[in-house]
Amino acid sequence: MKKAIKLKKINIDKIYKLPKKVAFCKTCVISNQRPKIDFDEKGICAACRYFEYKKTISFKKREEELKKILDKNRSKNSSYDCVVPSSGGKDSAYVAHELKTKYGMNPLTVTWSPLVYTEIGFKNLIGFNKAGFDVILGMMRGDTTRRLCRDATIEMGDPFQPFIYGQALFPMKIAAEYGIKLVFVGENAQAEYGGPKSSWNKSHISISEYEKFWFSNYAVKYWLNKGYSLQELQMIDTSNLKKFSNVKKYFYGYFRNWSNHSNYYYAKKYTNFQPNPERTEGTFTKYSSIDDKLDTFHHWFSLLKFGISRCTANASREVREGFRTRKEAVSLVKRYDSEFPKKYFKDFLEYTNLTKEEFFTIADSWRNKKLWKKTNNKWKLTTKII
Ligand SMILES: [Zn+2]
Repeated sequence: MKKAIKLKKINIDKIYKLPKKVAFCKTCVISNQRPKIDFDEKGICAACRYFEYKKTISFKKREEELKKILDKNRSKNSSYDCVVPSSGGKDSAYVAHELKTKYGMNPLTVTWSPLVYTEIGFKNLIGFNKAGFDVILGMMRGDTTRRLCRDATIEMGDPFQPFIYGQALFPMKIAAEYGIKLVFVGENAQAEYGGPKSSWNKSHISISEYEKFWFSNYAVKYWLNKGYSLQELQMIDTSNLKKFSNVKKYFYGYFRNWSNHSNYYYAKKYTNFQPNPERTEGTFTKYSSIDDKLDTFHHWFSLLKFGISRCTANASREVREGFRTRKEAVSLVKRYDSEFPKKYFKDFLEYTNLTKEEFFTIADSWRNKKLWKKTNNKWKLTTKII
């Protein structure tokens, strides 16, 4: 017989330090319930303010800065001179390809395996590899990843945490092992998604800073304390920080004017990138994060905790980039944001070894009661974007 799942009493507002009163940005459609986002006195989110600020940046000067760093580190023999964490997706493909062909670098690309590959995701990785890139594919042992996915769903309300650890930490480990000093990730997520002004002009981040900001109480150590062994988690363990002291994680989006749209066209042209024929559940896009069958559950849990999900993030970004009006974004959010990811629900239950009933019991424990009300046995969001 299966053991009953023990659920904690959860205070979401406290865990994520969320404001009591819900407010939506007056420029885009994000709400102040997104963790770590700042809103100013005029009701505009810091991500929108950052995009305004970006227009004043001289990317010509920033490119000169980049060239200096690359000139100092460019390999003079066949060895690799930089690591690009890459899924074969459009953004990392753009970074790796431009570093190689425009700036004459010799990148080693490092992929952290999705929890469950989609067909299109794997095809894009192969296409990217074919375009002329060496790839190291990291895959933590499957039994551990599955257990961690299940435990993270229960303990953190985020099934996707095992992937997030690997995506952030494994390429840093590979860089350290190979003696490579430069790692280039895409955008500076802290700045692009509403972090404090102090993050806006950051060109790089250290691993300890990264862990502190993004993982807060849930760094890998948390799981070691919960009984996972170091052997099981060694691909994502960063406790030997000394090893990483020479590795710098740069944001390519600091040096180059970052746009998801143009990255898509770039990757389609140069690295065999293909979008999905159908839109991703919970949003309207066909080309963002399409390689994992289970990541839609990360976004669906965010809907429970914060009342906003993937469509809100995608639509907000398009408003900031000037591709959409706020009115269009609002109607997209109303249409897609609350959609349940049914396409891969069976895969999710099988992967985590949860029953449907267990899944919804866990889900309800992560529902922010400030944002949700149950009437006639159906949960409804109490907040409405206008
Ligand atoms: Zn905004």
